[in-house]
Amino acid sequence: MNDSCIFCKIVAGAIPSTKVYEDAEILAFMDIGPIVKGHTLVIPKQHTERITDTPVGVLARVMHVVQKIAAAQVNGLKADGVNIFQANGKAAGQVVPHLHFHVVPRFNTDGHSWNWAAKKYADMGEMAARAESIRRAMDII
Ligand code: 5GP
Ligand code: ZN
Repeated sequence: MNDSCIFCKIVAGAIPSTKVYEDAEILAFMDIGPIVKGHTLVIPKQHTERITDTPVGVLARVMHVVQKIAAAQVNGLKADGVNIFQANGKAAGQVVPHLHFHVVPRFNTDGHSWNWAAKKYADMGEMAARAESIRRAMDII
């Protein structure tokens, strides 16, 4: 528990939340400011900040619940689709520094747009250099 973390306070029950799912390790609850109504957050109860500092076993259990919530938004809310979003660090738009996955139900008529502005590489070499930097930094292959 991190005393200054709002999601740790939600886990502890010190701040109320509308829960969707809970077990010993995972909590899913409604986002107070939904992008689309039904927007749900899935968190590990254990405080970690980023996907990169979360034990992979914990992450796997979080993702299992993310998958269940996504299916339930389709079956229970009759969502036409679902977006999964997760931010790491202020540069990426993370406001609450406790790992969380946004599970956002999408409807053909919801009017939401991600404003996804695709950029271009100067050439294939620039793209290949980025790929090589990522490839070299991976320690799983
Ligand atoms: P982030 O920008 O860090 O990825 O997302 C944080 C999310 O937490 C936001 O979507 C915001 O609406 C939600 N949030 C912040 N404070 C609270 C709260 O006290 N209760 C609930 N249920 N959601 C919160
Ligand atoms: Zn926390």
